[in-house]
Amino acid sequence: LKRLGLTAAALAAGGPSLASAAESVASGERTRVLRLAHVSDIHMTPDYKAAEGLASCLHHIQEHQKPDLIIFTGDAVFDSMATEEARVRVYWDLFARTWKSECSVPREACIGNHDIWGINKARTKTTGNEPMYGKKWAMNNYGWDKPFRSFDKAGWHFIALDTVMQLENTYTGRLDDAQFEWLSQDLARVAPGTPVLVFGHIPILSITSFFKGPAVKDGNWNVLGSRMMIDAERVKNLFYKHKNVKLCLQGHQHMVDRVDYLGTTYLCNGAVCGGWWQRDQHEFGPSYGALDLYADGTFDHKVVPYGWKYAKS
Ligand SMILES: [Zn+2]
Repeated sequence: LKRLGLTAAALAAGGPSLASAAESVASGERTRVLRLAHVSDIHMTPDYKAAEGLASCLHHIQEHQKPDLIIFTGDAVFDSMATEEARVRVYWDLFARTWKSECSVPREACIGNHDIWGINKARTKTTGNEPMYGKKWAMNNYGWDKPFRSFDKAGWHFIALDTVMQLENTYTGRLDDAQFEWLSQDLARVAPGTPVLVFGHIPILSITSFFKGPAVKDGNWNVLGSRMMIDAERVKNLFYKHKNVKLCLQGHQHMVDRVDYLGTTYLCNGAVCGGWWQRDQHEFGPSYGALDLYADGTFDHKVVPYGWKYAKS
């Protein structure tokens, strides 16, 4: 393969990927087709030197990981659920400006709960009729016409989920029926030999969900619907039908965990902001995930602390 000069970039560019990849699998060798960085939970704010923190993370990624693609699993801004318009605009502008000036790697993102403007109508002084209300601000920022989608790259199929459903003054993790139906049809269209990577903000399965919120109540584990998707059972049943769903990248926890379940691996790779740019979140500091994807549906993975030291204010 080396002699053929077959690089990940050539494969990503739609070069002689599939035939060559199949040959190399047949010869018992794994072919790396894509290198990824997974970033999550940036929570941009003018405070705590957050823009410098994001720049430092993006520089670390480009210097050390040199990925073909960055997957960002949401929470771009510090908060817009309960923050007024002028302040939310400052957050999004700083997020967009910092990313644009500090990173040249292509990015695919999904929406986080803190990216939804006006969930708390009283505190945001919103009515729900504002042009940027709800998910529209984030969709506008990324240029999306809907908050979930799929695409193909380097022989893998990628699915971006919208895992946050708005309730009165709060939210829960799940897919609505229309999105679940779309997901079922999307997976049905993928050839069984094509590996699938799913990404979303609120985890489908995560062990750190047990350590968020009031963990034990009335003698029972109490996993909040805001921490882990309440429809995880029907989603994992769907993935079990499609054995090519290999990998789920998840955000929201600001912690690191890995669940291997029924042939799918669910990863939380921590938060770019650690614990909101101020302290570690439980045992976990600022980090990102580094992944290599192979043509045969396997992957390599590690968590990278990028060395950010929290600023005082
Ligand atoms: Zn977050």
